[in-house]
Amino acid sequence: MLQFFGCGSAFNTAIGNNNAFMKRGSELFMIDCGSTNFSRMIQKDVLNGIEKITILQTHLHADHVGSLGDLVGYAYNVMEPKKQVKVTIICDKQLTADIQTILRKVGIADNQYVIEEIDGEMTLKNQIGISSIKSYKVQHVPHLNCFAYLLRINDKVVYYSGDCNEIPSEILNGMLAGEIDLFYQDTSKADPDGNVHLSLRKLTELIPNELRHKVYCMHLDELFSNDEAKELGFNVVESL
Ligand SMILES: [Zn+2]
Repeated sequence: MLQFFGCGSAFNTAIGNNNAFMKRGSELFMIDCGSTNFSRMIQKDVLNGIEKITILQTHLHADHVGSLGDLVGYAYNVMEPKKQVKVTIICDKQLTADIQTILRKVGIADNQYVIEEIDGEMTLKNQIGISSIKSYKVQHVPHLNCFAYLLRINDKVVYYSGDCNEIPSEILNGMLAGEIDLFYQDTSKADPDGNVHLSLRKLTELIPNELRHKVYCMHLDELFSNDEAKELGFNVVESL
């Protein structure tokens, strides 16, 4: 369902920073906008014909927010009709002030975009088929607020982990009960103590064999083996 501009971890830039998207007609929905993202979008001509861009933000590591300012500035100043707001940023309410500050500091005035906060759960008016987004505060690094999201897209329930070294218990229980249709998880081959992502080892322990066809590994580190993950029964996302 989701496509990806890039599917790499922060420093695995060869396959781009992990950024998901869906495009329908003149609307583009994205999750995050990392450092490598804007240049990839231009390179792939993704913005051609786009009139409305919605960005769901998970957290503020550079590989998730690094080129957000470029995209907002480009949409406002370069895309036609110029000087009209085309970007809506959606985020958990705990990220709003920091996103505004980051954008101001990179020269993006508040009037160039709209920001909408999720306070628990947000309902949308069928935006590219999305009818609701629920946020979950998750464990990633101690100094950042990070969020996973559960989205209803058309008739599917879609979990998107953002960056997270665990699976929230409500989500895991929902997955085990068959309530989640598609499960996107940042997955690392690296498995050190204090891992900030979920290791493939831990994912394999948590998700039983018969449910792994619903899981899509993303945010892949340099050591990650697509073949190994697929042999275990998981899917692996590919970048555009
Ligand atoms: Zn991160």
